[in-house]
Amino acid sequence: MKTQIFKGLFISALILGLVSCENEKMDVKEQEINLEMTQEMTNNGETDLGNAFYGKSSKSDCHFEYEGTSGPEFWADLCGEEWKDCAGNSQSPIDIQTGRVQKDGDINNINTNYTNTTIKILNNGHTLQFDYTPGSYANLNNIDYDLLQFHFHTGSEHTINGYRYPMEVHLVHKNRKTGLLAVVGVFFKEGRKDNRFLNQFINELPEHKGQYYISNKEYHIKDVLPEEMDFYTYSGSLTTPGCSEIVTWYVVKQPVYASAAQLERFKKIMHENFRPTQKLNDRVVRSKND
Ligand SMILES: [Zn+2]
Repeated sequence: MKTQIFKGLFISALILGLVSCENEKMDVKEQEINLEMTQEMTNNGETDLGNAFYGKSSKSDCHFEYEGTSGPEFWADLCGEEWKDCAGNSQSPIDIQTGRVQKDGDINNINTNYTNTTIKILNNGHTLQFDYTPGSYANLNNIDYDLLQFHFHTGSEHTINGYRYPMEVHLVHKNRKTGLLAVVGVFFKEGRKDNRFLNQFINELPEHKGQYYISNKEYHIKDVLPEEMDFYTYSGSLTTPGCSEIVTWYVVKQPVYASAAQLERFKKIMHENFRPTQKLNDRVVRSKND
């Protein structure tokens, strides 16, 4: 499906190029380069990462939604065997009940080694995905993970004692050797001021599925993180099909703030794109501090 959209875009770009005058041939070239970049971007999508781990190629004809007959309660049955993990026992997101969190002083702090990135935003029909320039990584529990991309959910996917924040950002990291993922989740709360990190691209967000925005303007992921990076950690899954159970989650306790207008902007584009919370089953949520 994604590939088809990009092919479609490319063909449209080509036709536009052919019917317009000679001088505009340059634009088609540029379009083409951008499309190659966008195809690269789609390899970092969550479904692709899950498939890559299992050595599967992405099926393009399966489709999911956040409501209706393709909604979360049906995901496990929408793609033959491919999305069966969505009915697994270690699924994400979860409701974190703080009274049941196990304190574990041996947990290491999140150590980040992030650098700047240029802007690459893709609207993949489910979320706004921001690809990160390679070279940034985080050390999580003594393992290095490359930062691949981050994306947003409105409202938050994880809940704290049943409370759902208006938005959550997921920083998706992958271990180069094992292919296992580590996702850092940060909550957004409504505040009076604009969030300066979000303001860097709030007017450039691609509104429709398959659209993207690319710019050489640089920004830094650290600017979205709160001062205090204390977190809850547990073993879970991707929160979109195929829901692969290959993710160690790091859900940061301290939220960051965004204005009502900013939160509304994201929600208007992505609609409600959170998966309902899943059963904890026999898993334990741990935290270094209370
Ligand atoms: Zn996510």
